[in-house]
Amino acid sequence: MTNSHRISLADLAKNSEKILLKGSSRELDSQHTPTVEELTECLFFSPGDGRIWLDDQRMLLIHSSSFGLLRREMIDSLGLDKSRDILTRTGYLSGLRDAELIQKRWPDSDPASIFEAGTHLHGLEGVVKVETIFFEFDTEKGLYDGEFFWHHSSEDEEHIAAYGIGSSPACWMELGYAIGYVSGLVGSLVIFREVECQSMGHSICRVVGKSAELWDDIEDDIRFLNVTTNEADMRIKPDTQFDKMELDTPDDQPKMIGVSAAFTAANHSLQKVAPTNATVLFTGESGVGKELFASMLHKFSRQTGPFVAFNCAAIPENLMESELFGVEKGAYTGATSSRPGRFERANGGTLFLDEIGTLSLAGQSKLLRVLQEKEVERVGGVSAIKVNVRVVAATNVDLRKAVDKGEFREDLFFRLNVFPIHLPPLRDRKADIPLLVNHFYHQFCQQHQKAPSGMTQSARQALLNYGFPGNIRELQNLMERGVIASEEGEPIDLPHLFRNEFIPEDIIYSVNHQGTLSHVDDKKASTNSLLEYITQFVGGEDHLDIEKLEQSLLQEAVDNAQGNLSEAARRVGLSRPQLAYRLKKNK
Ligand SMILES: [Zn+2]
Repeated sequence: MTNSHRISLADLAKNSEKILLKGSSRELDSQHTPTVEELTECLFFSPGDGRIWLDDQRMLLIHSSSFGLLRREMIDSLGLDKSRDILTRTGYLSGLRDAELIQKRWPDSDPASIFEAGTHLHGLEGVVKVETIFFEFDTEKGLYDGEFFWHHSSEDEEHIAAYGIGSSPACWMELGYAIGYVSGLVGSLVIFREVECQSMGHSICRVVGKSAELWDDIEDDIRFLNVTTNEADMRIKPDTQFDKMELDTPDDQPKMIGVSAAFTAANHSLQKVAPTNATVLFTGESGVGKELFASMLHKFSRQTGPFVAFNCAAIPENLMESELFGVEKGAYTGATSSRPGRFERANGGTLFLDEIGTLSLAGQSKLLRVLQEKEVERVGGVSAIKVNVRVVAATNVDLRKAVDKGEFREDLFFRLNVFPIHLPPLRDRKADIPLLVNHFYHQFCQQHQKAPSGMTQSARQALLNYGFPGNIRELQNLMERGVIASEEGEPIDLPHLFRNEFIPEDIIYSVNHQGTLSHVDDKKASTNSLLEYITQFVGGEDHLDIEKLEQSLLQEAVDNAQGNLSEAARRVGLSRPQLAYRLKKNK
């Protein structure tokens, strides 16, 4: 399990969603999609939230000089080779991620444009300006051949500033990016070499890329990548990119998905306590996935018996005892046969008690006794039955407060609270939303036999901004609704996802292709001019009628105040007579 969080480069190269067949840079025309403009529009800023996104990937804007310092300190402390290793792999991951992004967003683009998009993205990310000399590929034969000029390499700038001109190339991370991007698309390893580099005194860098088998000796190149050259290992497999973040469970079982710090912390605690016999108490809001965590705890435990879940809130109080502890025939009217309770059924395994805070005081006493004595007595029974059960409980109420109010036994609370694990609400796990969205998207498309063409950018942004009071369960419901409501071959859009939910208007900025920021608003053309904005708002005219604007504002105030003129006047900062006058004047 711990391995599933380690990113294997060879595995990641299996990521490509589809195999691109044949093509070359000669087929590119000026209108190829995605254009630089379209790529630029994938970049958006969410300053209120402290995040920058490139489509659904969180990005960082760091100072090139800080990167230079990091790089220098790495070289000084780890040596040249080790640093080159790390930077090449870092670049490789970025390249692979960008290849995924392009294939996901523009599934129908022609293959040559998809290859070319990597050069634009590398520039958009501020790393290097790429000039294509030529490239051609035939993925059926697994062949790629290409050559590029690199201008203004950020890595060279920092390298030269620190070390001056030397005898070997220095664009390590950039080279890793090219290898990752192109290998991700071709589905087999493509090695890039920098044959000329500014760090060696050349005026620009020149890189050559070829399929691994077209190079004579690639030992030196792959040494930095740690990737396998085994062709079978490099074949493209769809939809594996998120498996790295998921615990290894068969496809038909629910999965724990996440990379956020909050999720990772909870997951780490789970891994620690799973192989012990400790009682675990999960806390967190409704819908955060407590039962899933509990079943994973069981999966990673040493328990050989079954996992039995029991929701204390779902069973009427008078049936609670017989459900939990079992019943003997004739114990009460209707007890026509003897049957074991959940404790007996979970023998040798895990009993998950959800919403433990709703258990009656009588039920709590009985439960405490079972935990202490490790034996149960069926309702109406005369002898105790030995049980070996690990109890895992969950609550969405604060049990300490319940103890203070006398609603929960303190001794039972201490028994259960041996190892508490807090499961974070989804709003604290924003980084996981794209992963979860992707997971549910594929799950529900398959389940409902639907084939929409992905999701619109506004739908994705709304999901990132939404507060999810119902947590993961709510996201799951929204996605299922979205998939069902979608049209074949059309992307899932906002109205498919949201019905009555309140979507907060978080401030999101996107960069337009002139490089200026604008507020993202799909309903109206993006603009940062108040005048333009208002003109669009009041009507389709290209000029603003100030009186019409005033009338619209006043009318809206009156409507919002349900015709109460005093209230409407207060809202627009006028006295009641002033408002009445203006309303009449403009009629
Ligand atoms: Zn260079």
